[in-house]
Amino acid sequence: MARDRRALARAITLIESTRADDRTGAETLLARLLPASGSAIRIGISGAPGVGKSTFIEAFGLYLIGQGRRPAVLAVDPSSPLSGGSILGDKTRMQELARHEDAFIRPSPAGGTLGGVARRTREAGLACEAAGFDVVIVETVGVGQSETAVADLVDMFVLLLAPGGGDELQGLKKGIVELADLLLVNKADGDLKPAASRAAAEYRAAVHMLRPSTAGWTPPVLEVSALEGRGLDRVWQEIERFRTALGPQRLADKRTRQARAWMWREIEEGLLAELRAQPAVARELAELEQKVADGALTPTAAARAILDRVRARD
Ligand code: GDP
Repeated sequence: MARDRRALARAITLIESTRADDRTGAETLLARLLPASGSAIRIGISGAPGVGKSTFIEAFGLYLIGQGRRPAVLAVDPSSPLSGGSILGDKTRMQELARHEDAFIRPSPAGGTLGGVARRTREAGLACEAAGFDVVIVETVGVGQSETAVADLVDMFVLLLAPGGGDELQGLKKGIVELADLLLVNKADGDLKPAASRAAAEYRAAVHMLRPSTAGWTPPVLEVSALEGRGLDRVWQEIERFRTALGPQRLADKRTRQARAWMWREIEEGLLAELRAQPAVARELAELEQKVADGALTPTAAARAILDRVRARD
């Protein structure tokens, strides 16, 4: 809370630790930090690989610092199930921002759970807030499930798009666009500018046909150039306009809902983990799975057999 970035980094390491004997320390720490958190603006940024997320976040982060803000970036890396490697990967990302003492950048290892969002990203964000970072950006790769989990962590969800044409729009998952409170068509510069304008117009038309993520708010579509640092002030204006439109009460309600939902996710995960850890259940699970695979048993009957075993323990 004295704004020591190294202390914050160590706090997050403790929070992310999977060692059982670190958990008590992490929880004690979080209980102390929680009252000092909550005043930051929480922004989720997602987009397909190569769309310009790190270029944008670096430019936007530096812009925010120029506005007297202190941005923290938590980059969630859902390691690709295809390549087995990391998508956000290389360490050269956002170097200038990383060096700045008013910024904090932290890649989070993929937890492989909770929709691809590292399990402790939420808590890491709270630690950043307690350390005086007033804009917390959670970055994720737009590859599917992780958006939903990130949208559950933040006040506002921003989708970064490439200046493709109609094909782009077709290929985009509607569900992801529906999560967005703000759409940014990046690379609106040089030769790509006309394509970016066309894409933006198409997205604007599409957004009107989607269910708005927030009642009474039509997600704006802006053209930006992360490379040239253009359009960043408009982005910030729209973020502030969204906060105003939401108002303090709806924001508080949203965060309460998110905290409750997170609690249930953790309970569900914890229960499952505990269940699988029981040797008897583990043995039976393997057998039942095989029977279901062979068509010898219905999934419902197999599930009931496991649940009966759990009940028998009580
Ligand atoms: P990420 O995978 O989404 O993080 O994308 P990067 O930020 O690594 O950018 C991917 C590529 O797009 C890089 O070669 C960038 O230089 C380029 N790029 C990013 N933003 C812009 C932009 O605004 N305009 C142009 N022309 N290129 C950009």
